[in-house]
Amino acid sequence: MTVATIDVRDLLGRPGASRELPISGTLEGLGSELARVPDDAPIQGELLLESVVEGILVSGRLEGTMTLRCARCLADFEQPFRVEVHELFTERPDDESDEYPLDPELGIDPDQMFRDAIGVELPFSPLCRPDCQGLCEICGGNRNLGECPGHEQIDPRFAVLSDLLPALAELEVGDADDTTADDPHGRN
Ligand SMILES: [Zn+2]
Ligand SMILES: [Zn+2]
Repeated sequence: MTVATIDVRDLLGRPGASRELPISGTLEGLGSELARVPDDAPIQGELLLESVVEGILVSGRLEGTMTLRCARCLADFEQPFRVEVHELFTERPDDESDEYPLDPELGIDPDQMFRDAIGVELPFSPLCRPDCQGLCEICGGNRNLGECPGHEQIDPRFAVLSDLLPALAELEVGDADDTTADDPHGRN
């Protein structure tokens, strides 16, 4: 995070004391190829730092914009996000709970808390819209944009049958020809 570590020496050891802190910065390398917060995308918010016996309680909200890629049609699109945080920073974080480390001299680094809070908001399989038609498996066209001419998709299990269809059609035509041909011959 480009936001510096938060100095909390003014709050430590003074349970009940609190102060607000505006947040503005970026996070690098957050997300996956399908869902990410770009390295240069601004993240803003407001935190409330509260001194408690165990350490510093940090609560507030973060806002920003995530860049998503539709899992069906691969179109890139942006989506705003807003997440709430409510976490305890303490000198001796309990591995069993979700506490974050606090250094009495250096303060608290909110980077990991931000990553955790925003990370769970990143969709696993983003869709540009709930009824996205995706890409055509045959021609690769974007069906949302009508790029696919709408040819029939043939189930591979029936592909053998479809190969036989032209042959069957020829047989029928042949029969018809034979019938019309037979009649004159029959009369002759
Ligand atoms: Zn889509
Ligand atoms: Zn197509």
